[in-house]
Amino acid sequence: MKQNTAKTLCVIGGGASGLACAIEAARCGFAVTILEHTDRIGKKILMTGNGKCNFTNRLMNEEQYYTDEIPFLRKVLAQFGTDELLAFFDSLHLCYKEKNGYFYPVSNQAASVLDVLRFELLKRDVQIVTSTVVTDILEKGDYTEVYTKNQTYVFDVVVLACGGKAYAVTGSDGSGYQLCKKLGLKQNPPSEALVALKSSETYFKVVAGVRTDAEVSVWVDGQCMGTEMGELQITDYGISGIPVFQLSRIVSVTLLHNANASVYAQVDLFPALSKQALLQHMQERIRENAMLQIQDALSGFLNKKLNTLMLKHAHVSPAMQAGDIKVQSIHQMVQFCKKWHIPITGTNDFSKCQVCAGGVWLSELTQGFACKKHPNVYVIGELTDVDGKCGGYNLHYAFASGILAARDAARRHI
Ligand SMILES: Cc1cc2nc3c(=O)[nH]c(=O)nc-3n(C[C@H](O)[C@H](O)[C@H](O)COP(=O)(O)OP(=O)(O)OC[C@H]3O[C@@H](n4cnc5c(N)ncnc54)[C@H](O)[C@@H]3O)c2cc1C
Repeated sequence: MKQNTAKTLCVIGGGASGLACAIEAARCGFAVTILEHTDRIGKKILMTGNGKCNFTNRLMNEEQYYTDEIPFLRKVLAQFGTDELLAFFDSLHLCYKEKNGYFYPVSNQAASVLDVLRFELLKRDVQIVTSTVVTDILEKGDYTEVYTKNQTYVFDVVVLACGGKAYAVTGSDGSGYQLCKKLGLKQNPPSEALVALKSSETYFKVVAGVRTDAEVSVWVDGQCMGTEMGELQITDYGISGIPVFQLSRIVSVTLLHNANASVYAQVDLFPALSKQALLQHMQERIRENAMLQIQDALSGFLNKKLNTLMLKHAHVSPAMQAGDIKVQSIHQMVQFCKKWHIPITGTNDFSKCQVCAGGVWLSELTQGFACKKHPNVYVIGELTDVDGKCGGYNLHYAFASGILAARDAARRHI
């Protein structure tokens, strides 16, 4: 039987969504407990934004997210947009700065974000229990039992904030999906998002390390599914960088449902030039350096490693005299620059992706993130079927859903 007199709320998972929820719930008057199965809270926050934590963005709308329930998400962002999150961090005295619409702590250290969250939890007497594995949740009318390996807890409200299964080393090992399954909540299977793409081409071992601005598109079964611009990073297994991350969920979701789909990336290494202008430029260079070897005639045209790859694609020896290059080969070189075709075999796995697509359907939840089937149980953050683009959108949603869930619980219980 429940014994506490104050209304109690338990947050399972001490990540971004869980910590924001715990703070807001404590501010609303709940006695709050966080159950975290790793040895400390907020591990993933420390890794975000390359250690700098890009926690929100000035441009905040539903177009920055993927979910089957856009109207639900639109309402979330209308209630809790950029200004509301900044006000939350103002209340925690975080010093932050804006760079091209992206928000970071002034310190450039994600630890500052985690610190202000931790200090507020302390100030609000939130009980933090680490190294505790939650195994089951049972709703029993007006209270809910939470089972861990060693103990059974009883709470008025339980909030599931376990994240997905991206970067399991930080604690999000997918066990939240199991807990939600036991509660009978419908979910989309998780797949990797914001992740690098792998190719079967062996030449990547040679061109690895190159970074260049490019336009990247992803094609599935002959259809262009998305295009992004930005810095392309070439790795020894394929392609990475922000434009690739933004497109990666198309690949993982496609291959999850159809492992035989034909997927390739197309890279435009000169997005600012038309094919005709590029052809003209290359022809002029070759004409003016006709006596040089082609590798020297084209020096600085692309990164040296890419120049060599381009010549290989056009079946041109790097030592060939520029003036001897056939027109057809020049066209092939231009074709490579404008439409570099990269067969894609998949994405890096969950251990290297920044976020998971999939999770608990928003249609299983009320607008306040309570389960329709279990009104005193809430599901928030990456565990729900929402994933955002790069740019602070995933942390924003994690914080926003946590705070809105706490307010909803307070409205109903306090
Ligand atoms: C390398 C990297 C960089 C990123 N950079 C950015 C960025 O700059 N900006 C941005 O917006 N997003 C970024 N993200 C994404 C963002 O960090 C996540 O979307 C966000 O942290 C999700 O918050 P969450 O609270 O839902 O889940 P998580 O942060 O994953 O937290 C879940 C917590 O629950 C705990 N837990 C799980 N299961 C259980 C259980 N059964 N019992 C008890 N505890 C449990 C976990 O240990 C963990 O502490 C990045 C992600 C990664 C991996």
